[in-house]
Amino acid sequence: MKTRTAILPALLLAAGPASAACTFEIEVGDSLQYDTRTMSVDADCASVTVNLRHTGNLPAAAMGHNWVLTTPEDVQGVATAGIGQGLENDYLPASDERVLAATSIVGGGESTMVTFSLDDLPGQDRPYTFFCSFPGHYTVMQGTLTVD
Ligand code: ZN
Repeated sequence: MKTRTAILPALLLAAGPASAACTFEIEVGDSLQYDTRTMSVDADCASVTVNLRHTGNLPAAAMGHNWVLTTPEDVQGVATAGIGQGLENDYLPASDERVLAATSIVGGGESTMVTFSLDDLPGQDRPYTFFCSFPGHYTVMQGTLTVD
């Protein structure tokens, strides 16, 4: 009994920092989904790196994916503005302050990555949304990133 009460708080403390990270490996394929829906970034990270790997077979022109970070309110606006920019611009508006971080678009067998600083993220007390800006994907391909 005495041992149990001593161990439990220690486990709870260990669970917090262990679940947050600075580097993330995310996989996508020939369907409209990321292999993760939630990302927990450690607030102490000097920088955050997202590695995106497309394990499918379809080319970027048909089933391209990227990883774009915005506030939840800006998802639709950025995705809509990006459609007209074309694949060569990764379906993202150029120099748009709403885009907090973004990778390029990749197709099957390709990988991409982005590194950013937490200093570039405003309002870290609430969650951000990551999504794919390939036309038609953002409504389904979304997840939540929190700074913990
Ligand atoms: Zn996509």
